[in-house]
Amino acid sequence: MADIIQLLPDHVANQIAAGEVVQRPASVVKELLENAIDAGADMIKLIVKDAGKTLVQVIDNGKGMSSTDARLSFERHATSKIKNAEDLFQLHTKGFRGEALASIAAIAHVELKTKQDADDVGNALVMEGSHVVSQEIVVTPTGTSVSVKNLFFNIPARRNFLKSDTVELRHIIDEFHRVALAHPGISFALYNNGSESFNLPISNYRQRIVNIFGNKTNEKLVPVDEDTEVLKISGFVGKPEFAKKTRGEQFFFVNNRFIKSAYLNHAIASAFDGLLKNGMHARYFLNLTVDPQTIDINIHPTKTEIKFDDEHTLYAILRAAVKHSLGQFNIAPVLDFERDPNLDTPYNYKENPVTTPKVEVDRTFNPFNEAPVTKSEGRSSSGTSFRQAATKQTPSDWESLYVGLESKGNESQHDFAEVEFESEEETLSIFEGDHQVEQSHTTYQLHNKYIVSTIKSGMLIIDQYRAHQRVLYEEFLRNMTTREGVSQQLLFPLQLHFSPQDIAIVNQLKSDLEHTGFVFSNVQEELVEITGVPVGVPESEVSIILEQLISDVENEVPDSNFSATDLLAKSMAKSLAIKTGQSLKKDEQEHLVNKLFACKDPNVSPANRVTFVTMSVDELDKKFI
Ligand code: ADP
Ligand code: MG
Repeated sequence: MADIIQLLPDHVANQIAAGEVVQRPASVVKELLENAIDAGADMIKLIVKDAGKTLVQVIDNGKGMSSTDARLSFERHATSKIKNAEDLFQLHTKGFRGEALASIAAIAHVELKTKQDADDVGNALVMEGSHVVSQEIVVTPTGTSVSVKNLFFNIPARRNFLKSDTVELRHIIDEFHRVALAHPGISFALYNNGSESFNLPISNYRQRIVNIFGNKTNEKLVPVDEDTEVLKISGFVGKPEFAKKTRGEQFFFVNNRFIKSAYLNHAIASAFDGLLKNGMHARYFLNLTVDPQTIDINIHPTKTEIKFDDEHTLYAILRAAVKHSLGQFNIAPVLDFERDPNLDTPYNYKENPVTTPKVEVDRTFNPFNEAPVTKSEGRSSSGTSFRQAATKQTPSDWESLYVGLESKGNESQHDFAEVEFESEEETLSIFEGDHQVEQSHTTYQLHNKYIVSTIKSGMLIIDQYRAHQRVLYEEFLRNMTTREGVSQQLLFPLQLHFSPQDIAIVNQLKSDLEHTGFVFSNVQEELVEITGVPVGVPESEVSIILEQLISDVENEVPDSNFSATDLLAKSMAKSLAIKTGQSLKKDEQEHLVNKLFACKDPNVSPANRVTFVTMSVDELDKKFI
């Protein structure tokens, strides 16, 4: 049979490459702005017409190109920025793939004017669909101007695919913001349909943020500065009270390059944990400087995703630095910055070591073997008014927490084994020893935040929000793995609207959600109809729970131990737990204390943070010396 393989002509190859590099006018904006920065410009002007569909022009005062380079710059894989593969690991420029101009020229009409400082005259080049239409000598200022007209003129399908001018302009402005934020040392201007939209003089970083996002932004910023061996962080986070409902103002720059990272975003979100209302997103403008050798920018054609050698360490440092800043500026209580970074990695059952028991309480309170005794001591749940189902159980229900698993089907056993609860004996040990809860102890709520109780050795202080999250988390996990969640029917079906992407996540989690007690009567492209919710979940909370859950899934650290069940339990616990600031009656306080110590892992919250601390009489005595 005859040979059938042939090499694609250059202009076809360029068009294919353009499919990756140029999705919309904003992609052209990004590439041209980056080239101008790489050329060393300190003044860059962006001019757009009809949201870039008619014209995108970038004018810079950078080093310009010689007449040969001007022509070569439109060749594929033509770059002045790297010479060999090793250079890829020492990148100090934005571009390096040498395909942007070639790709753009394959799908638009391009005019280039460029002049180097040492020359008197410059070059003008006109390209149309990868072909040079003309090249001539012109008088032009030092620097480069690239005009890209009639984008996708030769690919009508792509052109028709473009969104409205409003949407496309939004994308352009986003790109412009990203580049301008990464380079406060360069002045930028943006003209849209003949009128000036932005004029950003050379300034410091804070001023640049304010110039872009408005004067009111200034008072909302908290500086973050951290310099470690592996990572330097500088920039700002927004104070929690100015958090936004949308994820718009979230910027990470790594070595001055804007990047998207769900993983690092998660680090920030967790530093803000407990400080933001449900569904709100922190704002941040953070510059990370790392050794170029430790990152790989090459994994994404538009270069917005990069790979770090040691993501876990970056995560821990970033999270600690943000927490530290929030603490320093009195936004959150100062947290221990020196703590073991491993403690800060996301919660994970498998890696979670068995923690040494810190407090030991009366054996008789152990719900695993002596529930009736507990009851007789007035620790029953009667009269509690928590709105959550989990807390409405009687103490004897605790026993059911982990029993009966053996009798369940293989599948649920398997699920349960996956999360590897520690054995009961290990948990029991916290109830042993001579530091016992005083028989006649009372609880006391401090600042609607902590529950203080006496134990024989001294004092026990419980963080109510974290403790309740732990209780609910184990409860939900149990329901999901044993599929025993009890449902309460709604009088009228609840209709919630979501974006198609969010619906995809709901679908992914649907069966787990059903095991907790949710009943879905209908899931469409942008609508979810719910007819039942887990017992105790108020109807008004349902949309918040789902929104929180979707955002948690989106931001979830993509590691191999990812478990949808675990995440769902964590997320629901977070949404439904009694919050800091909620006042609790005596019996509610006691009930929570008991429920906490009935947990498999009472020492930490589902996010792996300490739920309680103890202080011995000895320690107190020392304070009074
Ligand atoms: P890359 O930026 O990856 O090298 P491009 O296709 O974007 O690839 O650009 C090709 C080459 O053209 C660059 O390496 C650079 O030498 C030159 N060039 C592009 N734009 C400019 C500019 N604004 N000023 C000076 N040189 C430029
Ligand atoms: Mg480039």
